[in-house]
Amino acid sequence: MIHWEAHACLPLHPQADFAPIDRLRAAGVHYVSINIGMDMNPLPQVMAVIAGFRATIAAHPDKYRLVHRLQDIDAARAAGCIGIGFDLEGAMPLLEQPEMVALYKSLGVHQMHLAYNRNNSVAGGCHDTEQGLTPLGHQVVAAINAAGVLMDCSHTGRKCSLDIMAASGKPVIFSHANPVALVDHGRNITDEQIKACAGTGGVICVNGVSFFLGVQQPTADDVARHAAYVADLVGVQHVGIGLDISFSQPDLDDTPPGDYDATYWWPKSAGYDRALVRSAYPPVESWQQLSAALQRTGMTADEASLVMGGNMMRVAGQVWG
Ligand SMILES: [Zn+2]
Repeated sequence: MIHWEAHACLPLHPQADFAPIDRLRAAGVHYVSINIGMDMNPLPQVMAVIAGFRATIAAHPDKYRLVHRLQDIDAARAAGCIGIGFDLEGAMPLLEQPEMVALYKSLGVHQMHLAYNRNNSVAGGCHDTEQGLTPLGHQVVAAINAAGVLMDCSHTGRKCSLDIMAASGKPVIFSHANPVALVDHGRNITDEQIKACAGTGGVICVNGVSFFLGVQQPTADDVARHAAYVADLVGVQHVGIGLDISFSQPDLDDTPPGDYDATYWWPKSAGYDRALVRSAYPPVESWQQLSAALQRTGMTADEASLVMGGNMMRVAGQVWG
């Protein structure tokens, strides 16, 4: 069974070192979705990052394969490579043009949010006043469905995520989000959101960030505990893994240019005061302990395999076409 890491972050810099991707490959991951930009990143930065990452992937065909279709993941695995796709966290880099979605798709972007923590002209963010999906947002959801891109509601406001899931004609995912019933944080999601996601046929991928898991130093068992909660609520066929590990590289400055204010995007009122600096993740190598950890919650080995990638393969097969 394919092991699918639904969200990982390298520095948003064209020269980002792919050594962390090598670690994921060594830990048995067959596909990883790498972030290429968020709402605070201007288009020149996003495009430079896509170009840089594509060049790094192309320069190492023995290790990396840029995935265009689902079959490419199996082909990458057969060749001993890790399949790589990109994800965009927010609609602002679409410049209010729904047709930009298909352009990103052609560059390898297979997963997209509409808002990153804050409201924009398309959607509502999870750390802002409640705002539904706007008329432009409805057009963007239709464009995401038409382009065969996974609609991702992590970082989205609660009301807006329900609007998106009602509007989407395809299964919707949360690529990295945890149950608020276990840890009370604005980035975590309600049982209503989890049920709505499952109702689309989608998958909720459990996040590995320490303060969304409610522990200081997360382990595979902490991730498994949150996965088990989602499985008990809506069924194991709707659970995935998106550890959201941020592989910072201190020598690469990826601060967005211009009048960027980190406290706007990660507000102190939501507990981000220094929290990002303190955030910890399970080690990459915990992928090798996940199956056993999931089975310790009562899942069978086959059910653990669904959580570790089988479910995302199913949904990507339905959405990517
Ligand atoms: Zn994120």
